[in-house]
Amino acid sequence: MSYVDEVLEKIKKRDADQPEFIQAVTEVLDSLRPVIEKDEQKYRDLAILERITEPDRQIMFRVPWVDDNGKVQVNRGFRVQFNNAIGPYKGGLRLHPSVNLGIIKFLGFEQIFKNSLTTLPIGGGKGGSDFDPKGKSDNEIMKFCQSFMTELSKYIGADEDVPAGDIGTGAREIGFMFGQYKRIKGLYEGVLTGKGLTYGGSLARTEATGYGLLYLTEEMVKCHGDKMEGKVVAVSGSGNVAIYACQKATQLGAKVVTVSDSTGWVYDPEGIDVALLKEVKEVKRARLTEYAAARKSAEYHEKKNGEHGVWQYKVDIALPCATQNELDIEDAKMLVANGVKYVAEGANMPTTIEATQYFQKNNVPFVGGKAANAGGVATSALEMSQNSERLSWSFEEVDSKLKGIMVGIYHNIDDAAKEYGMEGNYVAGANIAGFKKVVEAMIAQGVC
Ligand code: NDP
Repeated sequence: MSYVDEVLEKIKKRDADQPEFIQAVTEVLDSLRPVIEKDEQKYRDLAILERITEPDRQIMFRVPWVDDNGKVQVNRGFRVQFNNAIGPYKGGLRLHPSVNLGIIKFLGFEQIFKNSLTTLPIGGGKGGSDFDPKGKSDNEIMKFCQSFMTELSKYIGADEDVPAGDIGTGAREIGFMFGQYKRIKGLYEGVLTGKGLTYGGSLARTEATGYGLLYLTEEMVKCHGDKMEGKVVAVSGSGNVAIYACQKATQLGAKVVTVSDSTGWVYDPEGIDVALLKEVKEVKRARLTEYAAARKSAEYHEKKNGEHGVWQYKVDIALPCATQNELDIEDAKMLVANGVKYVAEGANMPTTIEATQYFQKNNVPFVGGKAANAGGVATSALEMSQNSERLSWSFEEVDSKLKGIMVGIYHNIDDAAKEYGMEGNYVAGANIAGFKKVVEAMIAQGVC
């Protein structure tokens, strides 16, 4: 049995209750076959695949907090510190009822390769809680964040592990967590990224993941002899990534016709009004029904199982920006039948493996989240640099560095795919390029 199959088999047995983690590892190791097979004995002797698929440590803890009615609530907190071969652990904190160890492990594993692709010195980690911020008061959010950080603070630090936002963790939550860290540790250090601008945050961090997605997409489109101007785009989600993907796509001359949330979606053939979307989602924190109510050209559709949602329309570019496994094989077939030309993932693993393969078989250029949404963590690393030198860079400076990084990532993954005879397979290219750098560092540092 090949070394890759042997390791996959072990993981499927050992972590059988973690389907998302198995899915992520299978996708990565499958695409690394050409690299591993070239030097199989060396990787086997050093147990590289066993080491890179096993986190350095997984921390799980109780998060007790008191709600507005005086009732004690208990959630479960997680931090998975996956790999620090090339820098301190770095990765977001997800607050969502679906969070469990398998999901945090899948995200932490992907983060290793994504962070490596940014060319910046950051290792892979991820964390979060099954806490649901929806419907909670500011006071309850603060109580939860303070309790969460009381425990998490024992394991993180500016040179050790630097968490950031993710689903459910925005500027408000990062602020509460930073305040509690400072209070417990007595340290004013860049221990979290995504901070507010008045206390060490970076300009352009809010926009970074969505903007970065579009910078990479624009470069891919250009390299295919095409242009962004006039393209019709489907975006899913209406959170941080989706909003700034809509904004940059619109600035580049494309027209975004959809957005969604967990209860439904909007189809707006005139093009999403980004200012209105920001007002509804960032200021009022309301549902998309409010967007549709305020805009004549928009239709709102309630989400029903088995429907294609935002993927049913005739578009040139699809940008899934909500959550994992939100674009399945039936959606992919629909998009291809409607002539989709490019797909790039703003979210982490939003496309199922079958759907990814369907795009690839049908020659639709497809860039996975590891590369396409790396702009967020890249800018987080730029926030760390600014904190270290106690300086703040201008929006233009950060944005232009971000653009340079995303264009560089596109060419890096394109070249890696070509080097291993898989031209156009950007998923494999991203895994290979990310993997090679981390493994070189692991080997140099000995068995640890
Ligand atoms: P937000 O919490 O800001 O937004 C998430 C969006 O996805 C919301 O519109 C939410 O709808 C929707 N959503 C969540 N769960 C589901 C579901 N089960 N079904 C349908 N829609 C759902 O998160 P972000 O925009 O920050 O993150 C989106 C994705 O991008 C995630 O996969 C995240 O890991 C990834 N990512 C984020 C980065 C960042 O910098 N923010 C960086 C790199 C990756 P609702 O409001 O109804 O819950």
